[in-house]
Amino acid sequence: MSAVVQRVLPAIPITEVPVVGGGFFPVRRVYCVGRNYLDHIREMKEADERDPPFFFQKPRDAIVLDGAQVSYPPFTSDFQFEVELVVAVGRGGRNIAAYDALDHVWGYAVGIDLTRRDRQRDARDQQLPCEVAKSFDASAPCGNIAPARDARYFKESAITLTVNGNERQRGDIGQMIWSVPEVMAQLSRQVTLGAGDLIYTGTPAGVGPVVPGDLLAAHIDGLPSLTITITSPEV
Ligand code: MN
Repeated sequence: MSAVVQRVLPAIPITEVPVVGGGFFPVRRVYCVGRNYLDHIREMKEADERDPPFFFQKPRDAIVLDGAQVSYPPFTSDFQFEVELVVAVGRGGRNIAAYDALDHVWGYAVGIDLTRRDRQRDARDQQLPCEVAKSFDASAPCGNIAPARDARYFKESAITLTVNGNERQRGDIGQMIWSVPEVMAQLSRQVTLGAGDLIYTGTPAGVGPVVPGDLLAAHIDGLPSLTITITSPEV
């Protein structure tokens, strides 16, 4: 007798990010680099500048798209932005060599690593995981993905973020301590990268808090901009 196995809940929606020119990029996992620009490490008064990068994850359903309204999250009074280059992995692998890593890239996007800065300070002071500071609802805005074949390799490119039209962050991708190939090489020694993974590659200096009503516009030359609005907390 054959039995049809049925889901006990409706299917969980998959997360997809629009692609420049049409189509969607399905998201598998979302990784982030903890520190990758000297001036940001210095403004955070963080550890040794020679330390290797560390990685953390956000849940994939934390992705929100260009134009999203992001409600001010609970459990913080210091909600901050970090503009970042996002790498979209097209071909997975383990122990990827840096010289080979760009062949694993499907495309690039602009992202914002939204952060509960007060909870991050708590986690650091108490030596607890940073998850509460980094991995929460709508914490991973991601702009439309440009295919790598169209986007030149982002070795150097201005990266900026404005709040209500006022520039708050400005850096250059070329200031990354660990380049995109080096980030991929290091991460793929820790986990098996898969097609559909997104990697947020760290933020330059200028991070700061937002309040409801703020309009955030993130930009990297050569990529589609990412704009989000912060709205009142959900009740
Ligand atoms: Mn970040």
